[in-house]
Amino acid sequence: KRQEVGPQEHGIDVSLVDDRAVNVVHTLQEAGYQAYIVGGAVRDLLLGLRPKDFDVATDATPEQVKGLFRRAFIIGRRFRIVHVVYGRGREHEVIEVSTFRAHMDNQAAEAVAGNEKTSRGELAGMKHAVDASGRVLRDNVWGPQEEDATRRDFTINAMYYDPQTQTLVDYHGGIQDARKKTLRMIGDAAARYREDPVRIIRAVRFAAKLHPLGFKLEAKTLAALAPSLPLLAEVPQSRLFDEMLKLLQTGHALATIVQLKALGLARGIYPLLDLVVERAEQPFVRSALQDTDRRVAEGKPVAPSFLLACVLWSDVRDGWAQRLARKEHPFPALQGAIDDVFDARIGDVSGRGKLAADMREIWMMQPRFDKRVGSTPYSLVEQPRFRAGFDFMRLRAEVGEVDVVLADWWQEFSQAGDALREDLMAQVR
Ligand code: ATP
Ligand code: MG
Repeated sequence: KRQEVGPQEHGIDVSLVDDRAVNVVHTLQEAGYQAYIVGGAVRDLLLGLRPKDFDVATDATPEQVKGLFRRAFIIGRRFRIVHVVYGRGREHEVIEVSTFRAHMDNQAAEAVAGNEKTSRGELAGMKHAVDASGRVLRDNVWGPQEEDATRRDFTINAMYYDPQTQTLVDYHGGIQDARKKTLRMIGDAAARYREDPVRIIRAVRFAAKLHPLGFKLEAKTLAALAPSLPLLAEVPQSRLFDEMLKLLQTGHALATIVQLKALGLARGIYPLLDLVVERAEQPFVRSALQDTDRRVAEGKPVAPSFLLACVLWSDVRDGWAQRLARKEHPFPALQGAIDDVFDARIGDVSGRGKLAADMREIWMMQPRFDKRVGSTPYSLVEQPRFRAGFDFMRLRAEVGEVDVVLADWWQEFSQAGDALREDLMAQVR
């Protein structure tokens, strides 16, 4: 069922293909390995979209890949891939190179774990690792390209593109599904959600992303979705948190919320996500989501701290007001309210110190915008996180929570030179 299609038929616009990705493929092929652009990039190319990042798949092992590039790093322990890095600083780009992996259902994985020399392992010349509990690290079992395709999630995410020959390789009818605008899970959908419940969330993400192009979830892919929801309980909270951020930050946050509701998944994926869905109609949260989508569309960076600070702001504000009513001092009252919100809504933020610190800073800055005396404004605009704090206040002004005149004043002050700043200070005296 392997299908190879040439440029006339698939119509991929080569100008949308990243030079660095082409270079990686070329280098690997020159060294005698198979190499293709793979996954989401091929999907986007086929649909005429410009991919935001490029992944490459090869039959070379991570060590062999690393040896071919000047700046390449083997990343990850469970799922070892190579990052090939081009450029420096803000402009740097990473091409992810992964080795073809075998598709193993749970049974096959256990068989390999139980016996290192299974025929399956010998057949494909696989290399595999077993963790301390004897469980196979099945993501690191190398396999042929055909199996690499089968272990992927959706048919349109499982195609390979060779930019040299411009051929598209497809094992699961991805080209046809792209044409029919169908988002279809490879294999038995229910079993694939069981294998990795995060695929439930990925289904929502792609449904939202591709909805404007007219894509629909295929019947079984859809039918198995809601009943599989309880499986997410087995997924580590940190992975769910990351997937939630992806849902909200890939430029389709509002569309995702529409999809979550339409698919009957408005509740139950992750508590914080439930809250986002619940509050998406609040003007402030809605503006924040809209803003995020707009920024992504314009190619600007988005910070998860900003969006989450927006979603949880009403809790902070309410808690703060209650403490003020109890005659606490404003500053410690705000700090206390923030602590309460972290405890109640975010839970364990270990490993997310930076995110929590950024949210706290955005919130703590808010009362300082009211103090336009002495040196306060001068030191505030010098804060590294001033921009985020100001954007947050700007959004509050948009929904009528603070005076628009105040937001304008800060906008001007932050951009002004010394003389104009003195004038602005004089205005409010
Ligand atoms: P995006 O454009 O949002 O990056 P993507 O399809 O590239 O979407 P990635 O998370 O970057 O998604 O994953 C790259 C590829 O790896 C996918 O296209 C898919 O083939 C495969 N993949 C990723 N996660 C899974 C998973 N949980 N189960 C099966 N295959 C997966
Ligand atoms: Mg990707």
